Amino acid sequence: MSRSAHPAGPRHADVLTEGHYSAPAADLNVLDEKVWSRTVTRDADGALTVGGIAVARLAEEFGTPAYFLDESDFRARCRAWSEAFGPDADVFYAGKAFLSRAIVRWLKEEGLNLDVCSGGELTTALDAGMPAERIAFHGNNKTAAEIERAVEAGVGRIVLDSFQEIVRVAHIARSHGVRQRVQIRVTVGVEAHTHEFIATAHEDQKFGIALADGQAAEAVRRALGLDSLELIGIHSHIGSQIFDMAGFEVSARRVVQLLAEVRDEHGVELPEIDLGGGLGIAYTSDDDPREPHEIAKALSDIVTRECESAGLRTPRISVEPGRAIVGPTAFTLYEVGTIKPLEGLRTYVSVDGGMSDNIRTALYDAEYSVALVSRTSEAEPMLVRVVGKHCESGDIVVKDAFLPADLAPGDLIAVPATGAYCRSMASNYNHALRPPVVAVRDGEARVIVRRETEEDLLRLDVG
Ligand SMILES: *Cc1c(COP(=O)(O)O)cnc(C)c1O
Repeated sequence: MSRSAHPAGPRHADVLTEGHYSAPAADLNVLDEKVWSRTVTRDADGALTVGGIAVARLAEEFGTPAYFLDESDFRARCRAWSEAFGPDADVFYAGKAFLSRAIVRWLKEEGLNLDVCSGGELTTALDAGMPAERIAFHGNNKTAAEIERAVEAGVGRIVLDSFQEIVRVAHIARSHGVRQRVQIRVTVGVEAHTHEFIATAHEDQKFGIALADGQAAEAVRRALGLDSLELIGIHSHIGSQIFDMAGFEVSARRVVQLLAEVRDEHGVELPEIDLGGGLGIAYTSDDDPREPHEIAKALSDIVTRECESAGLRTPRISVEPGRAIVGPTAFTLYEVGTIKPLEGLRTYVSVDGGMSDNIRTALYDAEYSVALVSRTSEAEPMLVRVVGKHCESGDIVVKDAFLPADLAPGDLIAVPATGAYCRSMASNYNHALRPPVVAVRDGEARVIVRRETEEDLLRLDVG
């Protein structure tokens, strides 16, 4: 949920006017490095370049709309996470943020593990050569067929999400003659929002098994009683786009309490805990995300402290960043089609994509930034709303932002930080063709997911 839609009211409500937009940046031509991928800069002509290639060339070669993903930034973020957590912890990239075979190969090369949550994601991971033991399989309603494939492939862990699933996975593992490594996902009663969290006894959501009322302890009892399951630990994931580490503090404390109960009741110290993902990134200049090494230190301090006070050995920690790795590494490039000034309100800028390539604004009231990238401009800032071409008035890409007042049809504009949950949630609404993802690195650009074609649409429509 975005700040402006938060039940607690918008942050800075006192300084924001009605649209909740911040004041325009002093210079609209400056690309804030917080929201753009690392190799983005402006060249001598004022055009944005990524990986050394100017956007005009990218637009010409690959068309618009398109996602451009900064491969060296992606790899650097993978390394930063794995170095921050070190050899005694495991980093799982959450594939649902954005997954393709190229991504899987980069993850493999950079030493990361991978979370999948469907048969399709599992197939992509295995096809691109991710070793099965580095894959974790998630989801609140995995089908029997998906569980079979995961067990047959030999995935490193299946994260059990319900009492039914404990039995289901145990049964399938037994019929394959294997002892499947599993974790149990618990809900710890932490509702984490961007800038705050609420600790409750219960969580009203579909995932996991509640710690409350001894539910999770009962799940552990059942899993430990089944020979075909090897229970390696407890999993908890508290939300998304989180900046406040206090939510993780409560979550880790409650999970460690469960580990202590398990030891007291069964004489077993479960060796692992997984604290999930959900770490925030900068979508606008107002956001201040933490660096991986700060997050790693904070999480490991919390777990170590809680375990010491419970007299437990410190378990191996895993984390599952998705957005924090891929989110900042891509931007969406659009061409401006029409411009409608609404006197006294704002100017509507229509682009050649929209809610089919970025549903987050409509779905979560998410905030984004935008910049004119095919040139610089010295014109005054104008308040704009960037909208798509879909038959839907909620088809908004950027709710409130400033672009130069001399913006014209044919200009290229780009929305940064669209690497996560944009292509992966893209749709064919209005029979839109989903845009390509183009990886850019060291002066070379290559398509890693091609643009959909009208033939693709017709192929599915069997008439
Ligand atoms: C979605 C999800 C993640 C990743 O969340 P991000 O916000 O992308 O970091 C990690 N773990 C689980 C279980 C998830 O469902």
